[in-house]
Amino acid sequence: MNGHHANGTGAANDASPAAWTPSSWRSKPIKQQVTYANQTAVDKSLAKLHRLPPIVTPTEIWKLRRALAEVAQGNAFLLQGGDCAELFDYCDPDAIDSKIKLLLQMSLVLIWGGNKPVVRIARMAGQYAKPRSSPVETVDGRQMPSFRGDILNGYPADQRDLDPDRLVQAYFHSAATLNYVRAQLASGIADLHKPLDWNLGHVGDPELQRKYTTIVASISESLRFMRTVGADTAGQLETVDLFTSHEALLLEYEEALTRKLKHPANRNVPATQKAPAPPKVSPLTGGVLTDPSLRDPEPSGYYNTSAHFLWVGDRTRQPDHAHIAYLRGIENPIGIKVGPTTTAADLVHLLALVDPRLETGKVTLITRYGAANIAALLPLHIAAVRATGHTVVWQCDPMHGNTRSTASGTKTRSFAAIFAELASALRIHKECGSFLGGVHLELTGDAVTECTGGSQGLQDEDLSLRYETFCDPRLNEKQALELAFLVAGSQRG
Ligand code: PEP
Ligand code: MN
Repeated sequence: MNGHHANGTGAANDASPAAWTPSSWRSKPIKQQVTYANQTAVDKSLAKLHRLPPIVTPTEIWKLRRALAEVAQGNAFLLQGGDCAELFDYCDPDAIDSKIKLLLQMSLVLIWGGNKPVVRIARMAGQYAKPRSSPVETVDGRQMPSFRGDILNGYPADQRDLDPDRLVQAYFHSAATLNYVRAQLASGIADLHKPLDWNLGHVGDPELQRKYTTIVASISESLRFMRTVGADTAGQLETVDLFTSHEALLLEYEEALTRKLKHPANRNVPATQKAPAPPKVSPLTGGVLTDPSLRDPEPSGYYNTSAHFLWVGDRTRQPDHAHIAYLRGIENPIGIKVGPTTTAADLVHLLALVDPRLETGKVTLITRYGAANIAALLPLHIAAVRATGHTVVWQCDPMHGNTRSTASGTKTRSFAAIFAELASALRIHKECGSFLGGVHLELTGDAVTECTGGSQGLQDEDLSLRYETFCDPRLNEKQALELAFLVAGSQRG
């Protein structure tokens, strides 16, 4: 199966969207491969998934596509955040409530800072599959198969075998989580008529305390003013949109939830405006780049109905491999992780494959270089993308390039490094005549101790207090909000 490589040069014989099917990826080489012991059980789970209803709809997906087109043009900002590895156990009302509230509060701060609407996407309701650098890991001195996320195996040592039943459990946990999010949003969890608890008591530094209090006072004042003058005629202060996302890693699952559905009527996004005219032929792939004004005349298209937004990870974004072969065929907005190993040539090649119609905001480039590497890499990538004519969302993920180990071997990230990469992204985009469209964060609404630094002053020695992640270290509620304050502060100058 892995040997078939006809499309490897990019001069593709199946480059036309017509030839694409949700299972096209199966003929490509694949990274992070999954080999189940019991194929009959896998087939049974997949057959079940094929029959179940969509978790999200094309109308919602296009609402996000249009919102991301605004982000790509600099008219809105994108906040994406949630757990590294979402567990089925996180399908719990308190955990979900605190994540919704945190994303809402952060977005208010970012609106204040950037003076633009904020588009919110949660890494939630489906972020169950994790790429791993090694197939085995050592936990408490015992070597065992690596934990690959709840959709594949369980964290406890006796649950490390891949279990096909988890495919179906993932669907139901995802649906239950999103159902609760929708119900809470409809019931006023994000109602801005209600005062928010900003809880800034932990900020010891009087200077920062003053700065953050001023921002909160300014936000509260604006909300009060809008209520007083009756500015909420359309009920816009009563709720917000919250979209869902996960890494499209386990392609068997993604394929089973990919459906050919009728396009909604109002699916148009603006054609690329700011970029120069695209070359007729991609210099890299030799593939012809289609005129963006030529819309797909088909009445329907393939939608991944498991989440609004899907991204491809740093380990699985090879242009000629399975994950890109899958992602290029869906109508959803997609993300591509871009790291120190991404060449400018690969980036150009990838964009030609996944965005042949040059649709504004179709692709979000999620850069994750590390604070020490960003200055050398981001300008080259900005220049390479600019030359292609694709109008993308540039999003900074300041988490994944800044992971470090403490002396005792705990995986952590320093708040200072996270903020440094984000501040560099803001500055470099500006210097290059581009702009940062959004941030991508690993965070939780709980008071965990997984990243060091921030106003609580967490040290390496403090991490064991509440180190709860099953994969990468997340910002806790206070650190996440503080990051939003700092970004807002630097946006205001
Ligand atoms: C992630 O987002 O959790 C992840 C694994 O990131 P990356 O693919 O960028 O390493
Ligand atoms: Mn992660």
